[in-house]
Amino acid sequence: MFRKKGFLIFISVLLMVGLLAGCTTSNNQTVVENKEVEGRVIEKDVLVIGGGAAGLGAAIEAADEGASVILVEKMPYLGGSTLISAGIMYGAETPIQKQQGVTETWEDLASYWIEMAEGNVDVDLINYIASHSGETFAWLEEQGVEFSDVLSPQGVSPALRGHTPKEGRGMGLIQPLEKTAREKGVEILLNAPATKLLVNDNNEVVGAEIDEDGETVIINAKAVILATGGYDRNPQLIAEYAPVANRYTSYSAVGNVGDGLVMAREIGADILSKDGVIGFKGMGPDYPYTTPLGGLVFLPGLYVNPNGERFVQENEHYAVVVDIMANNGYDAYYTILDKNAPAEVIESGIEDGYGFKGETIEALAEAIGLPTENLVATVARYNELAELGEDKDFGKAGGLNAIEEGPFYAVKVTPAMIGSFGGPRVTLEGRVLNTEGNVIKGLFAAGEVANGQLYYQVYPASGTSITMSFTLGRLAGREAAREVK
Ligand SMILES: Cc1cc2nc3c(=O)[nH]c(=O)nc-3n(C[C@H](O)[C@H](O)[C@H](O)COP(=O)(O)OP(=O)(O)OC[C@H]3O[C@@H](n4cnc5c(N)ncnc54)[C@H](O)[C@@H]3O)c2cc1C
Repeated sequence: MFRKKGFLIFISVLLMVGLLAGCTTSNNQTVVENKEVEGRVIEKDVLVIGGGAAGLGAAIEAADEGASVILVEKMPYLGGSTLISAGIMYGAETPIQKQQGVTETWEDLASYWIEMAEGNVDVDLINYIASHSGETFAWLEEQGVEFSDVLSPQGVSPALRGHTPKEGRGMGLIQPLEKTAREKGVEILLNAPATKLLVNDNNEVVGAEIDEDGETVIINAKAVILATGGYDRNPQLIAEYAPVANRYTSYSAVGNVGDGLVMAREIGADILSKDGVIGFKGMGPDYPYTTPLGGLVFLPGLYVNPNGERFVQENEHYAVVVDIMANNGYDAYYTILDKNAPAEVIESGIEDGYGFKGETIEALAEAIGLPTENLVATVARYNELAELGEDKDFGKAGGLNAIEEGPFYAVKVTPAMIGSFGGPRVTLEGRVLNTEGNVIKGLFAAGEVANGQLYYQVYPASGTSITMSFTLGRLAGREAAREVK
């Protein structure tokens, strides 16, 4: 009913636009030539679609450049995946690293990212982000973000590049930025999904349509910045652009269904994908890592594959573990633990098939459904290595503790994702390119929506995506504002 009403309103608005304003079509797109139409029409220099790290970064920078800016967000609150993230940010030559005498350079960071992508990235973009990451941290501090001075290694590098907000995880990033954006005059519309980009006869982007409570609002803007996040909440787009993750659970923000990718594709943007996602360890849709049971995905006990065999160094970066699972076709792995395990939490997952208990290893194997002989042999070998004090098989450095005394426990870990890779291809200024390699005038994209040039198949380290989103969002905001001056 609601949908039907919305559709009728949509048609009427189109008709009104057509009759009153002289609506024509070109390349199957609606062209608004005259703004004297009924219904709400908003005029701004810059329209930012999406209010996470990239969108807020873009909006504030565009406002600082003197542009009038509107930011539309489909959810009733800003933040997207950035808000629900751990808030970790990866960087080089940041103010905190300098204070602490960390000597890593931005070139080291760029090399790490490029290496993790086996060279399959846009090196110019990576160099830009790495060399501006320190500046992004300084800028965030100016906007009121407070970072803890405790740095952490992330990914597979020992370098101390991981920063976190002092408080609030992702919220510690979004809240101060929302405040700054409002103070700088950015108009923010919530519950306002952009549904379509508006283009003129030359296929230049001149605004977008927004759905406000079933009413179509037209926003005319000289530049539009897509900052709509990833598409991993959309199974069809995952099947199309990252089939490796067809069966992964997405823990991303619920609004991240690829609207920006689809809108850009509709007007001829070149869409890049590499069949990868931000892989993560999970326990199906009901137990993300923020729940007591789901948090056990980080336990570094003994990991065995569906054949009951060890397959990885258990302290390995989560994205690498998920990549190994994908390459071997494992739908799950099992963390084997002994009587020191958090029994109550694990037992709470037995009914749902994520927790297992057995008085002996044989009984545990049976409860899980693993080949008993294999699990017994794997545990025996693991205990041998623990006694030796050296993991000669996989090189596990810490937490090599024997699994000797029952009752024994296990948790089932399944592949998940906290973001996607791929989207419209962009230039070094964040301008969206069409399939012929030409800039689509008036259209910019930044953040997870346009990260296809930044990754290959494995996410390199926690903190990478937020740093990239802020850094390229800010760049797109500045470029868009300069263009409309
Ligand atoms: C649980 C979790 C933990 C994570 N932890 C970290 C971490 O610690 N460090 C790190 O670097 N990365 C982390 N990530 C990944 C990271 O959070 C994201 O990749 C990054 O924040 C993306 O920023 P963004 O601005 O591009 O998108 P988002 O922050 O997702 O913002 C996109 C916004 O666009 C809105 N939107 C979408 N479509 C429309 C539309 N049609 N109209 C209007 N608005 C629209 C969405 O509602 C959303 O608010 C994590 C992700 C998750 C899910």
